[in-house]
Amino acid sequence: MSGFKKLELDFLWEISNVLTKNGSEEDFVLSLKSVFEKYLNAQNFGVFIWDERASRLRDFVKDWIFVDKNKQQEKIDEIYASLQNSPEKSFILNGKVLGFSQLRDLEANFSNCMQEENNLLYFPVINEKKVLGLIELEFGEVIHEVKSRDFLISLGIGASQISAAVINKILNRKMLVNINFHNVMKNIAKLIETQYDLTYILPIIGEMVDKFAADHLIYIFMKDEEEKFKLVWPANCHDEKIFAMLGKLSLQKPYAISSGGKTGVWALQNEQEIIGALAASSTSEKLCTKDAEYLSLLTRQASITIEKANSYAQMLQYATLDALTGLNNRRQFETRLSQETATAKRKNKPLCCIMLDIDHFKKVNDTYGHAAGDCVLKNVANVIANELREYDIASRYGGEEFCILLPDTKIEEAEFVAKRLRAAVEKTDIDVPDLGVLNVTISVGVSKFEKNYENPEILHQKADIALYEAKHGGRNRVVVYNSAMG
Ligand code: GH3
Ligand code: MG
Ligand code: MG
Repeated sequence: MSGFKKLELDFLWEISNVLTKNGSEEDFVLSLKSVFEKYLNAQNFGVFIWDERASRLRDFVKDWIFVDKNKQQEKIDEIYASLQNSPEKSFILNGKVLGFSQLRDLEANFSNCMQEENNLLYFPVINEKKVLGLIELEFGEVIHEVKSRDFLISLGIGASQISAAVINKILNRKMLVNINFHNVMKNIAKLIETQYDLTYILPIIGEMVDKFAADHLIYIFMKDEEEKFKLVWPANCHDEKIFAMLGKLSLQKPYAISSGGKTGVWALQNEQEIIGALAASSTSEKLCTKDAEYLSLLTRQASITIEKANSYAQMLQYATLDALTGLNNRRQFETRLSQETATAKRKNKPLCCIMLDIDHFKKVNDTYGHAAGDCVLKNVANVIANELREYDIASRYGGEEFCILLPDTKIEEAEFVAKRLRAAVEKTDIDVPDLGVLNVTISVGVSKFEKNYENPEILHQKADIALYEAKHGGRNRVVVYNSAMG
């Protein structure tokens, strides 16, 4: 038995260096290719993985690509099949199955099968004795040592190490996609815990699915009153093909994939009808079966969330409180505004209005996620509730805007309250679960009721104008309305 020489050891050393590096599949294959170029004069190196569903081999790096047609698909499938039936320690050179089991003849067998140029050598990618793919090496003339038994053995060792690394990468990739997928499913389902406003929910769903299906652009459509699909996320869709495909959706066949496989649409639906659709499209990448399955499940989850949001919204039409913050909702605010202005007028009592808006709140959502944003909203609402007197009326006017009515309060007192509120929010440490402490500031506008206002809304509008001035003046400040502001 001869010992390994420098050539073999160097070769294995370089292979194992590549295998222990963390990198993309592409780097992995390219680095291996350069090792094989160096030692075997290889012109090509590739890894192919068998796709059970399609019954074809796919490129390991670009898994949407089936094996190159030039390489004669059938032939390579045949090679795959012969490896399937042969013992574990075998490889195929120029169509001939050779084995490591008969070490004695290894060198002779190898030499006999070699051609002057264009040699094709295949090793199996094996997992638990099952062949899952092929490692392909294409090479021309080689130096003499490479045909030696020792080098062939080290080549076999290298190939089985590569096989193990490929299997690891496949499992890792599957696991990561699965984890991502389950997270997105969970997050779409969770949205409904705090939100029921579709104009807010749909963009979040769009963003989440878009991030998950990184190779495809995602669009969300909802049907309008005229039963037409209207794009709701993102801002534009110039893909005419999608619009054509949307028309074909039905409850019986709630999805469609374009003939080229690059575009897909899935219906958002309830039990009775199609309410919208999710579309995925790409100019370059095909949707693989697994992607389509994921997108179909995500669409189903989105349908459930949308339906729940709709029924909540219906229920909440009769409610007076905002679900997230526990303050009055906008509807209730409007009722109270009419009541309080009427009382102020009748009893000749002062009445003031404070309008406040969280500064740069979009940044909180964008940086830390909407759950953190929701947590901030709840905390700011708590600060407001704690700072007010019992008969002040605090409402969540919309997204991150709050409105407070201060009955029997003069403008100087209202300004004082507003300043206290601003300071209280600024110094509040908001503890966001799993994230840490956040701080936000608010801009505040204050206005007072005048008897000659034609309608109650004017009181609120003037506070809003002052709020705009506060934002304009640099945020985190209080501005009292004056007539010069318009
Ligand atoms: P400015 O200082 O000018 O007020 O900037 P801003 O980022 O606060 O204002 P903008 O109006 O651009 O953004 C408000 C954001 O509030 C956008 C929207 O996604 C978010 N938002 C609205 N409602 C909710 C909600 O219920 N929860 C969360 N997390 N975000 C919400
Ligand atoms: Mg804001
Ligand atoms: Mg705002």
